[in-house]
Amino acid sequence: MGHPTAFIEVERKLPEDRDAKSRLIDWQEVHEHMPEDGIKEQASRCMDCGVPFCMSGNSQYAPAVAGCPVNNLIPEWNDLIYRGRWKEALQRLHKTNNFPEFTGRVCPAPCEGSCVLGINADPVTIKHHEVSIIERGFAEGWVVANPPAKRTGKTIAIVGSGPAGLAAAAQLNSAGHNVTVYERADRIGGLLMYGIPNMKLQKEIVQRRVDIMAEEGVVFVTDTEIGKDISMNRLKEDFDAVVLATGATVPRDLPVEGRDADGVHFAMEFLHKNTKSLLDSNHDDGKYISAKDKDVIVIGGGDTGTDCVGTALRHGCKSVYQLEIMPQPPESRQNSNPWPQWPKRLLVDYGQEESYAVQGQDPRDYLVMTKKIEKDDSGKVKAVHTVQIEWKKNPEGQMIPHDVPGSEKVYPADLVLLAMGFLGPEGKILEDLGVEKDNRSNAKAEYDDYATSVKGVFACGDARRGQSLIVWAINEGRGAAQKVDEFLMGKSYLPK
Ligand SMILES: Cc1cc2nc3c(=O)[nH]c(=O)nc-3n(C[C@H](O)[C@H](O)[C@H](O)COP(=O)(O)OP(=O)(O)OC[C@H]3O[C@@H](n4cnc5c(N)ncnc54)[C@H](O)[C@@H]3O)c2cc1C
Ligand code: SF4
Repeated sequence: MGHPTAFIEVERKLPEDRDAKSRLIDWQEVHEHMPEDGIKEQASRCMDCGVPFCMSGNSQYAPAVAGCPVNNLIPEWNDLIYRGRWKEALQRLHKTNNFPEFTGRVCPAPCEGSCVLGINADPVTIKHHEVSIIERGFAEGWVVANPPAKRTGKTIAIVGSGPAGLAAAAQLNSAGHNVTVYERADRIGGLLMYGIPNMKLQKEIVQRRVDIMAEEGVVFVTDTEIGKDISMNRLKEDFDAVVLATGATVPRDLPVEGRDADGVHFAMEFLHKNTKSLLDSNHDDGKYISAKDKDVIVIGGGDTGTDCVGTALRHGCKSVYQLEIMPQPPESRQNSNPWPQWPKRLLVDYGQEESYAVQGQDPRDYLVMTKKIEKDDSGKVKAVHTVQIEWKKNPEGQMIPHDVPGSEKVYPADLVLLAMGFLGPEGKILEDLGVEKDNRSNAKAEYDDYATSVKGVFACGDARRGQSLIVWAINEGRGAAQKVDEFLMGKSYLPK
């Protein structure tokens, strides 16, 4: 334990983010890093609890998960930071998490929601410690390629290069297997590369890890879609095992009048093209959907919607609103959502902060249902027609939305972005091989087993559990790797 009374004496502190207005002129990360003394002081607040809920990763309360899904050894590394033993902290961190540089930046930190100190005070700044340890490791040159001493001769194909596929690849390669990762995009990383915008996770951070994995022997094949460029059956014949880590990329649509108007796009088309054009040419090629000088309506109040808000503001949009069908969350956790569950409360994320700085208000309007998209004579989007709703229980106890009479509103719009979540993985490669699906159209495979209905084919990450979090994708990639290793070798020494 760091300092026995620091949890009473030291207040929670994080470095200030970059100024909300001035950061809009670039695409660099929003968050700053704290100097070493400050991090040590914050780490000393950890009480090294007898039962450290922060690292429990208990999915019993799903989706309000309690604790870290990869079971990071949080109290251990807090203590090591306090004592200045950064290299040991890094070793502990890498035991459970292949990619702390990603989670330390963009994980919503369920660990902090279940920190014991959080019962009656502000929780320990765990996520910031995680990113500080790994960045110290890179700065000191401690994070280097570590190829396996021996190869087993077994071959594994991984389809999809998001955090699940990458975690599985890293683990299986470390066990000496020959791993090939296939990715249909032109860059490796899945949503780490082409979903989450640069200001949340700079892409050189993703590439830095991919380069290390390539040096360790993982083979990456880009611009290759399995099921189109190479058939699933061919992959199954050519490799000893196949891991499906294709994500859950089918977006939820909005079946209203005017949906086909020019200027209505899925959020992922907007975000993907933006990052690709930024990386390819610093936006000089113009191959992105620009929000400049436009009235932008983002339909969907979640994280994807917030990423659209931040991106539209960086383009220099005229205005941006984010429409959410659910009510505004409470300011603090409710009795029905007790510790150690993830607290469901109103969060002001970077996109909303930036909207305050530019537009003087939160861009989110709650309890709003879109009724119609209006087009002009040339077929371009002109406005979004909405109505305010109330949620009421029907006789069967289900919550049903009801229009509030007289609450109709028209939002002017030149660009509409649909960010209403995802339905599941694209089905074709599952169908090609006859992989069974669950009732949400995900690849059917039990958690902690990962075997699909087809022998030698495993599934993990969003393709198995539906759209989720990076930390869960890493957890599942590691778990699937262990099961694949066991399938190929009869037993496995890989940790989960
Ligand atoms: C806009 C956005 C922002 C997000 N922000 C956060 C965040 O801040 N924090 C967080 O924890 N989570 C966030 N998430 C969720 C998180 O990104 C995902 O849960 C996570 O990336 C899932 O990892 P995965 O490896 O299962 O799939 P993905 O990251 O989706 O990767 C799947 C990959 O498979 C490839 N692929 C699919 N089919 C094929 C095929 N047939 N052949 C070859 N390749 C194929 C895809 O191109 C993709 O690259 C966000 C999601 C979105 C959409
Ligand atoms: S991975 Fe997420 S939950 Fe786990 S310690 Fe890091 S921030 Fe917390």
